[in-house]
Amino acid sequence: MKTRVIFLGAPGSGKGTQAEKLAKELGIPHIDTGSMLREERASGSEEGKTADKYMSQGQLVPIELVVRIIKNRVSKPDTQAGFILDGFPRSIEQAEALDNILAEINEQIDHVLNIDLDEGVLIDRMAYRKSCKDCGVKYNMKFNPPQNEQNCDRCGGELSRRADDNVETATKRIKTYKAETEPVIGYYRNKSLVRDINGNRQIDEIFNEIVDAVKVKI
Ligand code: AMP
Repeated sequence: MKTRVIFLGAPGSGKGTQAEKLAKELGIPHIDTGSMLREERASGSEEGKTADKYMSQGQLVPIELVVRIIKNRVSKPDTQAGFILDGFPRSIEQAEALDNILAEINEQIDHVLNIDLDEGVLIDRMAYRKSCKDCGVKYNMKFNPPQNEQNCDRCGGELSRRADDNVETATKRIKTYKAETEPVIGYYRNKSLVRDINGNRQIDEIFNEIVDAVKVKI
């Protein structure tokens, strides 16, 4: 069975953690536009420099850039059993562009999982977030701290904070989410694809519900 999933949810909702876990469970690629853009930025390319201007302000990067990234990525052979989109689409315009891309390659979305969380906790989740530079494990310095402030429990690697995980930019990202991304939930509700997931629970409890949800066609 092919499983093509979109994760929706505000920044800080935990959708990245769940998307990564589900991708591992199903053995399909986790396509995370935020990480892909950070890699582009780190490469120092012109596109990366353009993206950085928007990312550092908590705004969406120009649609042409993300659509090009997604179009290339979903056509790769490793998506044969499906894929998980995390961080895309982030606007109605992007959702429409995705429909066109998928129609061209005879694909469609099977599930849209909307991770729901009270707005009040989002900023705290982002402002205390750190991840390991080496193995990528994520920590929350307040709610799920590592044993040692500076190093990863799993591999000992150095922990780092994302440049946009500060209170000021996090607040802007939530504003951008509400204005541009929240309407995407309605777009997919009209197609009867959305399953709302209460994100205010333990990671494994949320994950079990997600695994059950993607086993059946909504
Ligand atoms: P994320 O890692 O998903 O929180 O994304 C980090 C930043 O990358 C966002 O605040 C945006 O500036 C940019 N970004 C990621 N995905 C998209 C997208 N689909 N469209 C536009 N900008 C994006």
